[in-house]
Amino acid sequence: MLLTDLLKKNIETFGEYPFLYFENHSYSNLETLTYAKKAAWGLRHLGIKKGDRVIVCIPNMPEVIFSYQAIARIGAVIVPVMYLLHGKEIGYIAGHSEAKAIITSSEILPKVKVGLSESKVKPSIITVDQVPDEDVIGFYELLTLADENETAAESDENIDKNDTAVVLYTSGTTGKPKGVRLTHKNLYSNAESAAVNNKDRGTTIGVLPLAHVYGLTTSNVCFLTGSSIVIFSKFDVSKVFQAIETYKVRSFSVVPAMVHAMLSSPDANLYDLSSLERVGSGSAPMPLALIKAFKENFNADVFEGYGLSEAAPVVTTHREGMPHKPGSVGVPIPGVDIRIVDEKDHQVPTGEIGELIVRGDNVTPGYFQNDEETKKALKGGWLHTGDLARVDEDGYLYIVDRKKDLIIRGGFNIYPRDLEELLVSHESVSEAAVIGVPDDRMGEEVLAYVVKKPETTITEADLLQFCQMHLAKNKTPRKVIFVDALPRNGVGKILKTELRELAQSADL
Ligand code: ATP
Repeated sequence: MLLTDLLKKNIETFGEYPFLYFENHSYSNLETLTYAKKAAWGLRHLGIKKGDRVIVCIPNMPEVIFSYQAIARIGAVIVPVMYLLHGKEIGYIAGHSEAKAIITSSEILPKVKVGLSESKVKPSIITVDQVPDEDVIGFYELLTLADENETAAESDENIDKNDTAVVLYTSGTTGKPKGVRLTHKNLYSNAESAAVNNKDRGTTIGVLPLAHVYGLTTSNVCFLTGSSIVIFSKFDVSKVFQAIETYKVRSFSVVPAMVHAMLSSPDANLYDLSSLERVGSGSAPMPLALIKAFKENFNADVFEGYGLSEAAPVVTTHREGMPHKPGSVGVPIPGVDIRIVDEKDHQVPTGEIGELIVRGDNVTPGYFQNDEETKKALKGGWLHTGDLARVDEDGYLYIVDRKKDLIIRGGFNIYPRDLEELLVSHESVSEAAVIGVPDDRMGEEVLAYVVKKPETTITEADLLQFCQMHLAKNKTPRKVIFVDALPRNGVGKILKTELRELAQSADL
């Protein structure tokens, strides 16, 4: 049940099969294992030991997978970091995790150095491409540090399934990033249970960042099923279309922003996308209008699932062979229990809204160096997700909104998601995000940020009227602000904290 077992176990059956496609190269499972073994010894020669934290901060490329497997082989802890973060943010994670090494690239290095300049830690720096100065060691040079006997040997560390394999810093959409500890068992069991939807070998697309838990688990599922994964360092919708055509891709994992981009791209007609049966979407709410448009345009389903870093990440998915309920995020994956509770942690009746709590082998043992947040999130063995949700009579889960995003206007609860769904159903609206802002009279007021579709002339008054036609008056936004784009994190999730900051200067 170790992270390394995911790859080791598939070698006998799938050793010669390609695991990774990247640009013009492919790497078999066996080659992946060889790189991982060599890199593991290289890291040992640098002094990395069991329990040490090693940051991997590069866009998707084969070296990310080699590094993850190498770090796991020596029982060290992988700290995946999104390469798009600012130097300061990288420095914060390096300091908080007390990183011993950081694997990055020459392009990202200047940013890493800025981040480290104010940090108390001095990790060894490894670059996967050029080696710009003598403070840095090249990844491929690292591979040569091991002698043949070492490379041939199996991992000799005594690693337990309950040891921490990964510390994953959440993207901080609701506050300062927290380092979620995920054990080997958490990640292995989650990949195994999430694989219920992908039992057959096939080729999928890895466009989600491997630095995010969702992307990481997608690649772990591929190890288990012996599937191949075409990885991209950046999301380019035409390249995704091309990969679907070339590799006859039947399904892959996405976030709502990617579905939006696929639907808006004029290039869709240039490729044969008929192999596509479905995409699995998670990480943020998927507007119903997009699910419908996806079916109409691509004759493929959007199967929504739900997860969070603290649950390694998958909690629920839609399953093949079970009814598809658009708007729901499906049912719990095997081995995972869910409950909807009130403020006192009492289960609420079926269909009522409350906080979603989760239990299972996938649930984190807690945050790294943060007992206070751990106590808040884990009570009685149940992970408190901070998400408001309901379960229907068939056991399907519906995410209502984040507890922290709930707007209380004049004593009435307003779920931003209801308004966002309504706004994007308007023919002239491309995207929408709704937030609550402090108001002396009402406690909170509703503010909507809207991205218009190109060449539309819709006004604020039109949209307010549209909302009044479909919603109770007290739910109508006080103001609609048109923007060119919404602020998003590395997985395309809308950063409501940034919108709240922006709102401070808005004239209400
Ligand atoms: P932070 O916890 O620091 O704010 P984050 O939100 O980016 O960062 P993640 O673990 O990446 O942390 O995201 C998990 C959250 O994403 C869930 O708690 C939930 O609010 C949201 N989410 C995930 N899947 C869905 C979905 N299908 N529909 C609606 N929301 C979802």
